[in-house]
Amino acid sequence: MQTDVAIVGAGPAGLSLAACLAGSGLGVVLVERLAEPVLARPPFDGREIALNHTSQTLLKRLGAWGRLGAEEIAPIREARVLNGHMPLTLRLSPPERAGEPLGWFVPNHAIRRTLYETVAERGEARFLCGRKAVGLELGGGEARLLLDDGSRIGARLIVAADTRFSALRELAGIAADRLDFGKTMIVARVEHERPNGRVATEWYAHGYTIAMLPLGDHVASAVLTVSPAEAERLMALCDEEYGAEVTRRYEGRLGRMRLVSTRHPYPLVAVLARRFVARRLALIGDAAVGMHPTTAHGYNLGLSGAWALAERLREAASRGADPGGAGTLFAYAVAHRRASLPMYYATNAIARLYTDERAPAFLARAAVLAAGAAIAPVRRAIVAHLMARPAALAAA
Ligand SMILES: Cc1cc2nc3c(=O)[nH]c(=O)nc-3n(C[C@H](O)[C@H](O)[C@H](O)COP(=O)(O)OP(=O)(O)OC[C@H]3O[C@@H](n4cnc5c(N)ncnc54)[C@H](O)[C@@H]3O)c2cc1C
Repeated sequence: MQTDVAIVGAGPAGLSLAACLAGSGLGVVLVERLAEPVLARPPFDGREIALNHTSQTLLKRLGAWGRLGAEEIAPIREARVLNGHMPLTLRLSPPERAGEPLGWFVPNHAIRRTLYETVAERGEARFLCGRKAVGLELGGGEARLLLDDGSRIGARLIVAADTRFSALRELAGIAADRLDFGKTMIVARVEHERPNGRVATEWYAHGYTIAMLPLGDHVASAVLTVSPAEAERLMALCDEEYGAEVTRRYEGRLGRMRLVSTRHPYPLVAVLARRFVARRLALIGDAAVGMHPTTAHGYNLGLSGAWALAERLREAASRGADPGGAGTLFAYAVAHRRASLPMYYATNAIARLYTDERAPAFLARAAVLAAGAAIAPVRRAIVAHLMARPAALAAA
């Protein structure tokens, strides 16, 4: 099979790129190891993705946002960060005149479903599902992908969107820096007695971190970060015991809590590819930058990266140029590294600071939080970043 662009991985990043390339005239093939019915109805995986305003704008343009049900979109009125039992709280809220929330929580499986529907309905990209990419040849005039059923795909560009543990990245010989935080994040939905006021909280308690992400007035995603051994113990509890454990760890702030979903553990490992491109290969999504979830940037960056690559491929296609050409890929790599590296390193620094139990770290946390709480321009800058809509996107 021959195509212009072969995308490996139809997760949120791979599907976003396919959607961004609609109407470009480029032939697109998506290779995904999951079966197509699973892509059409992805199961709940516990992740509630905090989307910023840029991502909302992009998803609207791609036609995915309009496919979300009202119950799948949870506006965030305010975000609060607390350190231990310190009275000081860092509060992030939109300016009153904005009349808009800070962002929105949307379940990861709903993002996957709506992007799949968008791409499938346009009928321009071809899905090869239930097949795994297992081999790669990156040549001068063409790249080749080998699938586990023995078939081959020739493409002018291969895009790896195959998770932060990307096999394609390894096959291409691209090294990646990994940072294992030695912690596991368990995510699950809970119902709680008192209303949450649509305020997302992140609380750094002693020995663990607990975040509450409001999904309804009395429903939240409880995000618990603990040691791997503790995560194993918590996963073995029955539902009632787990609800009681979350209530206790949240110190009853929202009253009694009851588990209303399955629990999903995620070991926390951040990964940064040393290069985002190679000859006729580009990395996107977590395969390029796999973020710690604490600053909620993984998919937001994955989506803007997919958009950035698609823009350059469209431009090459409009000139009749090679979409896998070195200049096109280099321009994408420079832009995406510039956008993601500061966020990647800042997130790692925050995640380390907030999972360190030693006294100096507690004091450093207190100082950072105090600065953020006391200095209004710092708070305004964070809020402005979350709510920014690049002029080029807003106008287009
Ligand atoms: C608990 C948690 C909370 C998060 N919260 C947020 C948040 O609030 N905001 C935010 O922006 N981000 C958040 N993220 C990050 C976000 O979920 C990821 O950045 C995003 O899902 C990455 O998408 P992806 O498509 O790159 O990779 P994935 O979602 O990992 O998808 C990769 C796809 O590739 C397929 N695949 C893999 N290997 C092969 C192969 N060899 N052949 C064929 N197919 C293959 C897989 O089956 C899969 O479908 C969170 C992550 C976690 C774990």
